[in-house]
Amino acid sequence: MTLFCHPGYFDAGLANVDPEIHAALAAEEDRQRSGVELIASENIVSRATLEALGTAMVNKTVEGYPGKRYYGGTEHADVIEQMAIDRAKALFGCAYANVQPHSGSQANLAVFLAFLEPGDTVLSMSLSEGGHLSHGSTANLTGKWFNIAHYGVREDDGFIDMDQVQALAEKHRPKLIICGGSAYPRCIDFSAFRIVADSVDAILLADMAHFAGLVAGGAHPSPIPHAHVSTATTYKNLRGVRGGLILASDLSLKRKLNSGVFPGVQGSVILNAVAAKAVCLGEALRPEFEVYAHAVLNNARVLAATLLDRGVEVVTGGTDTPLILVDLRPNRLTGVVASNSLERAGLTCNKNGVPGDIKPPSITSGLRFGVSAGTTRGFGAQEFETIGNLIADILHGLENRIANQSQLETRVASEVGAMTDRFPIYDTDR
Ligand SMILES: *Cc1c(COP(=O)(O)O)cnc(C)c1O
Repeated sequence: MTLFCHPGYFDAGLANVDPEIHAALAAEEDRQRSGVELIASENIVSRATLEALGTAMVNKTVEGYPGKRYYGGTEHADVIEQMAIDRAKALFGCAYANVQPHSGSQANLAVFLAFLEPGDTVLSMSLSEGGHLSHGSTANLTGKWFNIAHYGVREDDGFIDMDQVQALAEKHRPKLIICGGSAYPRCIDFSAFRIVADSVDAILLADMAHFAGLVAGGAHPSPIPHAHVSTATTYKNLRGVRGGLILASDLSLKRKLNSGVFPGVQGSVILNAVAAKAVCLGEALRPEFEVYAHAVLNNARVLAATLLDRGVEVVTGGTDTPLILVDLRPNRLTGVVASNSLERAGLTCNKNGVPGDIKPPSITSGLRFGVSAGTTRGFGAQEFETIGNLIADILHGLENRIANQSQLETRVASEVGAMTDRFPIYDTDR
């Protein structure tokens, strides 16, 4: 027994060693078990993924890429990273994959670094119309160090206007054009974006963070054949560990993209995350995942249709992705009031700006819902119709300023509890 560590250092479990943290972790598992998770950026990973995250691979430090490392003892790390790369390439049908980005934002930043110099011009969707922080928001490094021009969506129907994109590309002559966002519910016309990019000699980056699982499962068009580079997160719709991916069909971009990640924006690899990414990508290659992807799309459409039926406005009138954006302005509600009431009722979602929103990000006039997590636990069309009705009940209660909103929240919470009991996750008696 080493004298330099607490007793049981190599063998005692967390419950014994650190009961406070253990209790908070157990409470979080309970929260996930008993609530309906509608946050679009969340999902529920497999037990196998959790296991891959918690191994002695945590102890290993490597830099560089398989076969070209800066430290020794990398043979098993190399096997794992190469397997993750090969699976990503097989899953998305591309020639190049980088599985090291610590997050989606890191993946995007590596692409900036691979192709741009500080001050270069980038054309992307604005955050307020559905883009992402890492696409040149003024608060983000990408917005501070690069010259950003933004396109938005049409005010009347919420769709991207390709004529506006073309006009802005001609006006600003960007070196990089980005499509894909965190609150855009519709299919993006990747080939139209590529035509715009080619017309001004720009690189096209497609960020498929929110719908990568649908692409993998064949329920959404793939950007890979059209974009020069695509990025994704592994933890949203792809149903894996927190992290990012960079993909490309043109292998000649490999050197630039690899050095954009390392040594560009990252140092050593989070190898346990890479192992868990390999597990996630392996799971996504199984036939069940294709069924999952189609169920996600169907569930999202059922939820959108139910909300519309109940007089809740859905931006663009529907969805082609796992996410739905609701405009609360017709109900004279704010996102913050609505999401707080929904959370008290056991329905977790997030407040979100809507196109043309004048409310600040801390208030907003909208809500964003995602069905990826609920679908993983087994919810089908029937459950999402119920969820849509429960959401509408809460929103109409707020809208009509009913006296007993808290009673309504309690009633909805008990229906949520009954539903989640029927679809258990992470068996506690294991
Ligand atoms: C979620 C998301 C990302 C990545 O976010 P991280 O929190 O950095 O992992 C990138 N792009 C888009 C469009 C996203 O929605």
